[in-house]
Amino acid sequence: MTSNILSASGRQPTIAVVGGSITGPVTALLLLHAGFDDVTVFEAAPASAPLGGGLIGLEHPALDVLDRLDIGQHEFVAHDSEAIVQMTVRDRRPAETIRRTYAGRNTTWTLLHQALTRRLPAGVLHSGMKVTALVEEAGQPVLRFRDGHTAPADVVVFADGRSSTGRRLLDPDRTLRYAGYVAHRGIADITPQPGLRDFLRLQPCPGVQFNLAPVPGGCDWTFYLNCTSTEYAQRFGTDPTRRVFALPRHVSPAARAHVDTCADLLLPADHAAVVHATTTRMAAPVLDISPPERMVWPIGAGHAVLLGDALAPVRPHTARGANNGIEQAAGLAAALTQHRKYRADLTAALHGWQRRHLPAAVAAVHRGPVIGHQLGLGTHQPAQ
Ligand SMILES: Cc1cc2nc3c(=O)[nH]c(=O)nc-3n(C[C@H](O)[C@H](O)[C@H](O)COP(=O)(O)OP(=O)(O)OC[C@H]3O[C@@H](n4cnc5c(N)ncnc54)[C@H](O)[C@@H]3O)c2cc1C
Repeated sequence: MTSNILSASGRQPTIAVVGGSITGPVTALLLLHAGFDDVTVFEAAPASAPLGGGLIGLEHPALDVLDRLDIGQHEFVAHDSEAIVQMTVRDRRPAETIRRTYAGRNTTWTLLHQALTRRLPAGVLHSGMKVTALVEEAGQPVLRFRDGHTAPADVVVFADGRSSTGRRLLDPDRTLRYAGYVAHRGIADITPQPGLRDFLRLQPCPGVQFNLAPVPGGCDWTFYLNCTSTEYAQRFGTDPTRRVFALPRHVSPAARAHVDTCADLLLPADHAAVVHATTTRMAAPVLDISPPERMVWPIGAGHAVLLGDALAPVRPHTARGANNGIEQAAGLAAALTQHRKYRADLTAALHGWQRRHLPAAVAAVHRGPVIGHQLGLGTHQPAQ
């Protein structure tokens, strides 16, 4: 079936973006830059919700997308080192060190989210709007919200993250599976060495990895440790597939004590001291999902799409989650622009987008368990 919203009505498509973290705002800004004038972002969290998130490595294609949005790199890259310093640790002392160059730069979720959302024109971002359902009414997609509101749209873009409502509605068989380990995270106001600029990766033994990088005001660390589902529930309050991010208020004293003890046993003293000194802590259970087979669904005469973590959350070691979301957003904006400007058939444009972007998402889903297995992290064996 072919489709063309423009020729049917002579108006611009109404585009509803669900999720106001990274992928959603990038999609909205790209569409606004391309001349779409009916774009709304619906975000479940209230505007007053505390913001916070860790280090994110962005590769050159994603950095280029942000450049095209006129977001200067100085705004979201606080330290421009491209070095990854990888250290084997023996008896709590650095042993071999390998220095690599990352084809990208490090930002933080907070810096990037702020750079994006401050550019959204007034009235585009609607906070405190949790989507609960997507239905077809009079041949058009209609979003339903927890507070009873509804919003019709021609194209619904689900960028609503790891526990996506869009994925649950459109692709319900693809459920999250806990991979058997946790990324404990913290932002400390001290660093293990003065003037730290590079990304450090410490590998004390199989089943443990510690990453650390400078961020404004201190350093951001991630400590990967194996953990059963039961232990996760004891430390963070509930099952890992239900609490897909443990916010500071979910981190129990037992979770803190466990991480501090592991730091004392496994890390060099200066890195363990950073962990101990960190008051604000978070955690993300590492999750797997079956690879996606599609990104686009017809809903009456309109469409719904999944992208970013809503399409496929990938393991953090792949460093591909935000990159995938931003690259998919750019591809989606290009496809929709061809429809708006040159009347390209919308269904064909969206399927072309899916064909170009699905392989990278699938590759990253497969790559996560391979890296986890190499590091001795988690319980899932990679697919042969
Ligand atoms: C330890 C760790 C390290 C990482 N390192 C990297 C890295 O180096 N490089 C990289 O590319 N990626 C990295 N990632 C992954 C990256 O953080 C995610 O892929 C990225 O944040 C996903 O962005 P998103 O906007 O797609 O989803 P999310 O950031 O999950 O945002 C989804 C948004 O949707 C909202 N929402 C959810 N449900 C609803 C609803 N029903 N209605 C309305 N709104 C809703 C949520 O409140 C949220 O704001 C890392 C992740 C972790 C945990």
